[in-house]
Amino acid sequence: MLTGACGCGAIRFEVTRPFLSASYCHCTRCRRRTGAAASANARAEPGTVQVVAGEEHLGVWAPEGGFEKLFCGLCGSALFSRPPGATDLTGVRLGALDGEPGIRPQWRQFVAYAAPWEPIPDDGLPRYDERPPA
Ligand SMILES: [Zn+2]
Ligand SMILES: [Zn+2]
Repeated sequence: MLTGACGCGAIRFEVTRPFLSASYCHCTRCRRRTGAAASANARAEPGTVQVVAGEEHLGVWAPEGGFEKLFCGLCGSALFSRPPGATDLTGVRLGALDGEPGIRPQWRQFVAYAAPWEPIPDDGLPRYDERPPA
């Protein structure tokens, strides 16, 4: 069981099963919503992410043609994502977790849109200009 929270602590959540995968996303939306060069995200099995406190504070950004991005409406922390129209939270921002996530980012995606001000780390991870191949 993993636990996590937003920066102000109003929203807390649990993940009840090991993550399926994890990756860094360099897309423009991730860059803007985090203010960082890339976002580290894990993918969870549907139904395994439970918000246990502060659900009423969850804000949603649903960009045209993209995954919904959920954040704390009080402190702005990026927390989750999910496909358009889905109810289960399946994307978890690794930085929101309290402890060891049990997984490491396995690839870098959307590197064609990487921030010009920070070199992509030479960490040996596969890099994909857009989405990784299915
Ligand atoms: Zn918060
Ligand atoms: Zn992204």
